[in-house]
This record gives sequence, structure tokens and C-alpha cells, in this order.
Amino acid sequence: MYVPAQNRYDDVTYRQCGRSGLKLPPISLGLWHNFGGTDVFETGRAVIRRAFDRGVTHFDLANNYGPPYGSAEENFGLILERDFRSHRDELIISSKAGWDMWAGPYGLGGSRKHVLASLDQSLKRMKLDYVDIFYSHRPTPDVPLEETMGALVQMHRQGKALYVGISSYGPERTRQAEKILRAEGVPLLIHQPSYSLLNRWIEDKLLATLEELGTGCIAFSPLAQGMLTNKYLNGVPADARAAKGGSFQQDMLSEQNLAMVRALDAIAKRRGQTLAQMAIAWVLRDPRVTSALIGARNVAQLDDSLDALNNLTFTAEELAEIDAHARD
Ligand code: NDP
Repeated sequence: MYVPAQNRYDDVTYRQCGRSGLKLPPISLGLWHNFGGTDVFETGRAVIRRAFDRGVTHFDLANNYGPPYGSAEENFGLILERDFRSHRDELIISSKAGWDMWAGPYGLGGSRKHVLASLDQSLKRMKLDYVDIFYSHRPTPDVPLEETMGALVQMHRQGKALYVGISSYGPERTRQAEKILRAEGVPLLIHQPSYSLLNRWIEDKLLATLEELGTGCIAFSPLAQGMLTNKYLNGVPADARAAKGGSFQQDMLSEQNLAMVRALDAIAKRRGQTLAQMAIAWVLRDPRVTSALIGARNVAQLDDSLDALNNLTFTAEELAEIDAHARD
């Protein structure tokens, strides 16, 4: 039987999510990869247990995480049932709808039909009555924003989602979404954009917009899917994401990117950190970023990444040196 570590909350400083009352851990765990039906269930289960033992209270999912689609939610539901039955109120669990999930015109997008049906399916798979956060997973220009936000408002009123968020929306659409939600008395809790040393688009306008709106920010893929570790510096390891095809674009491994990663790795070493740790600490250097949303294939990776919290501070010189290399 799993008994969580007694001291799990002792060493973590939780961060306020925008101007809401909700706090999130500085590092959250996502189940996009490594938790599907084709992965080893017990490895994923060990990662979730270890994360919780180290104060990670937030787990991020989506309807189609797997493969196959839906299987990460199913596996997570089993883990919840077996290990976390008496800890539901210590967890922030999120899911999303927007990308392709099932066949036909209602199986993806931002329509009210898709979003509400998808949430009900996610709740069934995870065997939950509610999620803590539900996201519109992506902007859908072919659907009126009022319709997508209306679906979020409805699930919020029904108590099926305690908070709502959006993912990958640009600054202007974010502003419009927040306004529609606010008019219905529903705050826009959080935005989930990509953000890393190799992908800095949110620095341009989005972060300032979120600060103004009082919306939190959880940065996904802070390791650029593993690129911001030292694993690709001497070729592609057989067990790495880049070797599996799928979401990792091979052009990420360009000589230009690898040179950047090599330079960043040298800076990390001087700081006494692994590159993964520095990459995570770097996204958290900005107080507008509430949480870094990482993935981990095993407990060793998770432990390495969580140790980023041992050194979150950067000198002005270090930041300037990083800026000289980290450009997208
Ligand atoms: P990361 O950038 O953290 O990449 C995780 C991968 O990096 C791991 O699977 C592993 O890959 C490698 N890795 C992790 N830690 C280490 C380490 N310490 N040392 C060496 N290698 C390491 O995040 P993800 O791309 O996995 O995304 C994280 C989460 O963000 C997702 O699970 C999901 O919840 C969310 N997300 C949301 C999206 C959205 O549209 N809203 C889109 C994408 C992600 P390997 O197998 O190669 O070892």
C-alpha cells in the first residue's frame, strides 16, 4: 500500500496563480507522454507517487494523451483509485479539449458540442466527479469565441470544473476570452503556453497581458521535449523521445540548436546544475510564470528535474550570458 511521504510539503514554496486564490507547485507534472496504454503502467505509477512525495500537487492531462487517445486519463484514473483515494483534496487535476479526439465533426475543436462531451468522457475515464482546471486546448478560429467560453462557463457552473483556462491563445484572443468569461462571473484562472530557453514567444506580449488580467501562467515543455538536457549532445539515444518519431520534430536537432544547447550546458555546469535543472529554473525566474509543466519518463528524470528547486536564482551576468545563446 502506498503511504505518501509525511514531509511532502516541507520544502516546496507554492506560487499564487495570477490574482486567484489558488496556489500551484513551482513544478507540475504533465502526462502527455510516458503514461499511455503503450507505456509501462508501473513506471508511470512510480513517477506519480514520487512526484506527490516531493510536493507536486498538480497533474496535467488532456482527452487525447496516450497513445492511444484517452489512455493516459484511464491510467491516471487507476492510479488515483489505487493510491490517492484519500488524497483527492490535495490534488489539482486538469484536462483539456480542442485537439482531435474522436471521429467526425464533433470529435475536436471548440464547439460547445465537443467541449462539453469531451469533459464528460474525461471524467469517466479518470473516474472523477470534477476536474480542478479545464482548458480550451487551442484557439479554434472557425468557432465563435463566445461559444467555446460559454462551454467553459457551463462546466464551471455545473461544478464539473472548479477553474477554467486556455492554452496556446495569443495575447489578443486571451484578452477577449477573459472578457467574455468575466462578464459571466467566471475568472480566467490560467493560461498554458509553450515556453522554454528555445521558445520565448510569450515574452513579447502574452506575459504582460496575463499580468494585467490577473491570470496565471503554466509553461509547458520547459525542456523543449528533452532538447534542453544534455542527452542529444552525442547523438540520439535509442530510448529518447526523438528516436520515437511523433511529436519531436527532427529539425529540432539542427547544428545551430545543438550549439546553443552546448553553450547553455556549460553555463548550467558552472552553476552546479544539470541543463534540465537550469532550463526549469530559468522559466521560473519570472514571477509571472506560476509553474513549469514538465514531463518525465522515469523517476530518475523526475528527481533530477525537481532538484531545479535547489537553485532558482540567477545573477544578472548569468541571465545576460544565457540571453546571448537562448534565442528562438
Ligand atoms: P518537457 O519539455 O519537460 O519534456 C519532457 C521530456 O524530456 C521527457 O519525457 C524526457 O524525454 C525528457 N526529460 C525530462 N526530464 C529530464 C531530465 N531531468 N533529464 C533528461 N531528460 C529529461 O515537457 P513535455 O514536452 O513532456 O510536456 C510537459 C507537459 O506539458 C505535457 O505532459 C502536457 O501536460 C503539457 N503540454 C501541453 C501542451 C498544450 O498544447 N497545452 C503541448 C505539450 C505539452 P525522453 O523520453 O527523451 O527522455
